[in-house]
Amino acid sequence: MSIKATVRANENLSFEVSADTEPELFRQVARVHEVFAVKKCGKCGCEDVKFVVRAASKKSKWMEVVCQDFNCRAKLVYSSTEDQSMVYPKTRWTHLSDAQKEERKDEQEYADSHAGFLPNGGFYVWKKKN
Ligand SMILES: [Zn+2]
Repeated sequence: MSIKATVRANENLSFEVSADTEPELFRQVARVHEVFAVKKCGKCGCEDVKFVVRAASKKSKWMEVVCQDFNCRAKLVYSSTEDQSMVYPKTRWTHLSDAQKEERKDEQEYADSHAGFLPNGGFYVWKKKN
């Protein structure tokens, strides 16, 4: 028996999922919530956010959700698991690469006192290096 569900991630995105068992359906709903349920910018609260993919090199691609408020432009970056089968938003300090930790070191204190979670739900504004 196949169980079907429509999972609404945000204003503009909903997904059809189906599974033969409840645990599998639960897993699929959880994936939609984990990856796509970004309802607003964690920095300014703007509800106009956009999923963006950019090719950084042949092998790697940047996946991010970018706030469309021109004065904010904060973004939430994603990473993929080693086998490339799943993606996840970088919402915790431990998700960041060494280079990202260096760039975002001012967020470490917040993360240390908030069970490892980054401020603003992981959204941050890229700072130009001088
Ligand atoms: Zn914003």
